Amino acid sequence: MHPRLGWILVAIIDPVIPADPFTLAGLDHWRTLPIKQQPVWPDAEAARAASAELATYPPLVFAGEVDQLRERLAKAAEGKAFLLQGGDCAETFAGATADQIRNRVKTVLQMAVVLTYGASVPVIKMGRMAGQFAKPRSSDTETRGDVTLPAYRGDIVNGYDFTPESRQADPARLLKGYHTAASTLNLIRAFTQGGFADLREVHSWNRGFTDNPLNQRYEGLAHDIDKAIRFMEAAGANFDEIKAVEFYASHEALLMDYERPLTRIDSRTGLPYDVSAHFVWIGERTRDIDGAHVDFLSRVRNPIGVKLGPATTADDMFRLIDKLDPAREPGRLTFITRMGAGKIRDVLPGLLEAAKSHGETPLWVSDPMHGNGLTTPTGYKTRRFDDVVDEVKGFFESHRAVGTHAGGIHVELTGDDVTECLGGSEMIDEATLATRYESLCDPRLNHMQSLELAFLVAEELGQ
Ligand code: PEP
Ligand code: MN
Repeated sequence: MHPRLGWILVAIIDPVIPADPFTLAGLDHWRTLPIKQQPVWPDAEAARAASAELATYPPLVFAGEVDQLRERLAKAAEGKAFLLQGGDCAETFAGATADQIRNRVKTVLQMAVVLTYGASVPVIKMGRMAGQFAKPRSSDTETRGDVTLPAYRGDIVNGYDFTPESRQADPARLLKGYHTAASTLNLIRAFTQGGFADLREVHSWNRGFTDNPLNQRYEGLAHDIDKAIRFMEAAGANFDEIKAVEFYASHEALLMDYERPLTRIDSRTGLPYDVSAHFVWIGERTRDIDGAHVDFLSRVRNPIGVKLGPATTADDMFRLIDKLDPAREPGRLTFITRMGAGKIRDVLPGLLEAAKSHGETPLWVSDPMHGNGLTTPTGYKTRRFDDVVDEVKGFFESHRAVGTHAGGIHVELTGDDVTECLGGSEMIDEATLATRYESLCDPRLNHMQSLELAFLVAEELGQ
């Protein structure tokens, strides 16, 4: 056996054994650094065993797909493509049903069609799906009345029910997280490769959604696309490209007991890939330059995102670029800005100017959700659709003013008709929130609000 192959096998099977000094150098360095937002497993040995078992499971994505995505994202950074990234704030195990997965995929496909047709730009489709199970929390505990329990950290860690048993971190959930991600990804691949995503189905994606003027606007667009396709077919064009779509999986790489054992050495390149998803990002709360998450992700080949909140300085940004993308590789680094509608026009242009003047060209993506949270007097966590729209507009305005590329949006959405965000064409008000509020974490745009946002972004992109 080639001596290096031995190291690689050892590294795949046991994530804790020291890594190959050459290709795996430092992959476990994060263990020596300060780390945030990890659960306390009551049974540490069981957690270690679950992680070791995960290390023996097959990869969820193929490294070649990850490399292809990096190339696609490089185009978006140049202004020649646009990233559409969307899905739940927190996926749940119970929510991984065929209907819910299909509705989310359909919504992303519809939004992509609106963008592609409206702005004539290739759209990179990416779900916050098949692994978005771990959540950072602002407090380690939650108190209701006189009972205090560990906070809910996502289905991959503990249960949402407010009982001591359910809130206890359970390492068996790591394995369930993997299997749920695998079955979700399997269905996504079936939908997007097996005919469902064929552009000739553009009308059928809208079926089953409620009667609303926006659906009619979408139908009008679908009709135009149909006509264009029929014309091209009659003219003898070959349509292999429209039969299937590339659809990428992404989540926040938060839980190290999941990400590390799912990091493998690709046999083609000899380099480490986090094969839990094509794209992984670092959250606003874990992006410390000297912390464990940034160090770990600096060592995997995947394209990486970093959330940037309103307190981000140009210095923070430069240090993240140097650490995560020292080679300035096109498509490697995405900054996902989440400033809040009231702040984006003050904060973002300065960062863009600084990046531009140093010749830095990361992909810039807008998350118009996480800077715009509010809680109603009745206790619902919500967001105003108008604020979401305003932040997206501020994002485009900032890029136009500085001369950089507005490269994508990152949204929390569902394909279902939930009532979690205020406003939109259905004019959801505070009283309506209670009728169908299902998110266990942050409020999501429903199907109609998502489509409405896509029409708006298409207009901005077309300017
Ligand atoms: C999220 O994307 O759900 C999230 C927690 O975002 P942020 O890290 O930007 O707060
Ligand atoms: Mn969220």
